[in-house]
Amino acid sequence: MKTWIKNPTATWTGNQTPAANGIVVEGSVITELVNGEPVSAVDEIYDAGKCVLLPGLVNCHHHFYQTLTRALPSALNKELFDWLASLYPIWANLDEEAIRASTTTAVCELLLSGCTTTTDHHYVFSDQTTNGIDIQAEVTERLGIRAILTRGSMSLGKSDGGLPPDEVVQNADDILKDSERLIHRFHQTNEGAMLQIALAPCSPFSVTTELMRDSAVLAREHGVLLHTHLAETMDENDFCLEKFGVRPVDYLEQVGWLANDVWLAHGIHFDSQEMNRLGSSGVAISHCPSSNMILASGISPVKELIKAGCAVGIGVDGSASNDASNLIQEIRQAFLIQRLKYGSANVSHKDALHLGTTGGAALFHRQDIGEIAVGKQADVALFNLEELRFSGAGDPIAALVLCGAHRAEAVMVAGRWRVREHQLVDIDLAQVMNDQKKAALKLTG
Ligand SMILES: [Zn+2]
Repeated sequence: MKTWIKNPTATWTGNQTPAANGIVVEGSVITELVNGEPVSAVDEIYDAGKCVLLPGLVNCHHHFYQTLTRALPSALNKELFDWLASLYPIWANLDEEAIRASTTTAVCELLLSGCTTTTDHHYVFSDQTTNGIDIQAEVTERLGIRAILTRGSMSLGKSDGGLPPDEVVQNADDILKDSERLIHRFHQTNEGAMLQIALAPCSPFSVTTELMRDSAVLAREHGVLLHTHLAETMDENDFCLEKFGVRPVDYLEQVGWLANDVWLAHGIHFDSQEMNRLGSSGVAISHCPSSNMILASGISPVKELIKAGCAVGIGVDGSASNDASNLIQEIRQAFLIQRLKYGSANVSHKDALHLGTTGGAALFHRQDIGEIAVGKQADVALFNLEELRFSGAGDPIAALVLCGAHRAEAVMVAGRWRVREHQLVDIDLAQVMNDQKKAALKLTG
């Protein structure tokens, strides 16, 4: 089956090759960038006449379960540590239905905003939710989004000097055993992989030093990536100095994580020497602008990190600190905050689009996604410019970012349409919202 996505208003491929008349998709792969007419007959035409065509967007950090605690009154207007302390006891009661509902909600939001690849960092496990990642795998497969699910973990409870309450931490043996089980069960290594696993101890203040080390050893044994939160707030820097006697990047080095199979969420409070060490080691960073603004954590030095050699992508972060899962809007947030930091001549809308596409693909070490090119996976997003917010716009690509695109007209993942006419294909959104409201009410009372 050959489909021609025909004559978009504009195409941003993420590289130098133009595709003025669209692309041809065959199976799960892009087989032609069209400039004129396709070289051979096609079976189906998708008229993209009113749309801008982009590579599918890549989300590099999230906590799906937090969609159940968005805009929660008891967690409003707090910075990270106080915010976490007010939410941990609620998250401790997550059950299977809550994980299923929140994963479904977050993935639907992501798809509708043009996202085709997402990660999730699920780190709350209790006696009643030992199979959180299994549920997420089932949901992401059903909804047809490409996923890198991380087996998160917390092992340093309050009684051992950590931040989380003891009831949400697990012992290290259970964590490592379950991590290995999930890698064996779900991790795909083929080109076009739809589901991969990574290991993700939560943060220096919620995981023991031993578990950081052992997670790295296990990940490398199986060739999977490593992920954690780092240098998000000054409080975290202070915690590391007090508890470990070193700053976060030194701590990372001590536990064997200063390496090119690691990506970090946030990455804000580094000095220039630390950025050079991160860059030369090949550590990647997920920039999470909305979350950093809501929790007033700081501004990630994205340009310096890229200059130092880090791959940088964008993450919406968990929906208790964003509180949305809209990736095209997050690209706008990155554009705005990075411009504020570096000046209007130094950050363009294309820089922001790169963060949300090619940057994310590099962060995940994926050669097969993140841009529109022959042989890449057919992951694309189309945004219709026939909306009031774009009316009168000059440059159609700049308009997406500057006028605030917020919903995709159509989204394709691995050659399958997942969104058409702003609607999810084969998904009853009313049912999704109903399940989500029920689960949120049960959790937060
Ligand atoms: Zn996070």
